[in-house]
Amino acid sequence: MSDHPTAPASAPEAAPERGPVPASESVAESAEVRRFWEGLGLPGLVDVHTHFMPERVLRKVWAYFDALGPLTGGVEWPITYRQEESERARLLREFGVRAFTAMLYPHKPGMAGWLNGWAVDFARRTPDCLHTATLFPEPDAEAQVREAVEAGARVFKAHVQVGAYDPADPLLDGAWGVLAEAGVPVVVHCGSGPAPGKHTGPEPIARVLARHPRLRLIVAHLGMPEYEDFLDLAARYEEVRLDTTMAFTDFTERMVPFPRRALPRLADLGDRILLGTDFPNIPYPYVHQLHALERLGLGQAWLRAVCHDNGARLFGLGASGESSAS
Ligand SMILES: [Zn+2]
Repeated sequence: MSDHPTAPASAPEAAPERGPVPASESVAESAEVRRFWEGLGLPGLVDVHTHFMPERVLRKVWAYFDALGPLTGGVEWPITYRQEESERARLLREFGVRAFTAMLYPHKPGMAGWLNGWAVDFARRTPDCLHTATLFPEPDAEAQVREAVEAGARVFKAHVQVGAYDPADPLLDGAWGVLAEAGVPVVVHCGSGPAPGKHTGPEPIARVLARHPRLRLIVAHLGMPEYEDFLDLAARYEEVRLDTTMAFTDFTERMVPFPRRALPRLADLGDRILLGTDFPNIPYPYVHQLHALERLGLGQAWLRAVCHDNGARLFGLGASGESSAS
């Protein structure tokens, strides 16, 4: 949900950056996160939805949250992990996150190529980050996506709300085709939370799936608030998955609670739900997302699949965390 336009003219300067988390605080939190996955007998976590992006873009995102920009739904959103990049990556490692992503996204033409260039470099210096790329409806979208796939991108991010585009825009058709053919997953923020956009909701992305039924679509935020419509899509298309980002947390449940009646469907789709957190742009500690999943009461096998095994399988991670495909 924490994905926002990056350069609103009215945004104030970001609040000053926090220094490193005090060692004692960070150690205590890490111990709690590790206790969670160790208790499940896992080798760590796979987090498919974390944000790393060029520093000045991220600052603008944070400023947007601080200003309660319209796409935040006007909710108070204090960002918990406002450290510098290396410290944020270090924290994820300390938590035992074996693989994470660099979800980045353009809000205007001409920006995707620049972001993808940055992401190549970030992936190079951050081996535990799954090389991430993005796209935007523009004339060379297909060529850019092909280039990113050839450069080794393992996951894409598309943001229908912030980008304010129709995912079924003909300018993107070739790009979706390249991703479907290559089997490279794409995390798409297509639900209407925390505030609806012109092209959010299940219908526009369903038109993309009708044309590209093998597209490995990962519905961000479990599709909130249209949870059940997106579960329908997953039931219909076997390559559709959903990430848990911010779902079931106290913060989200207050605004858009997950319907209890849909819990059995969540259990049935247990092999297609992937842990996502929105780190660092979250208004609570990382471990809260894990506890929010645990308290659903869907059992340890479900948690193991969601928090690690499904992602490890999708991205071909070997036992050591290295890609078995490379
Ligand atoms: Zn996000």
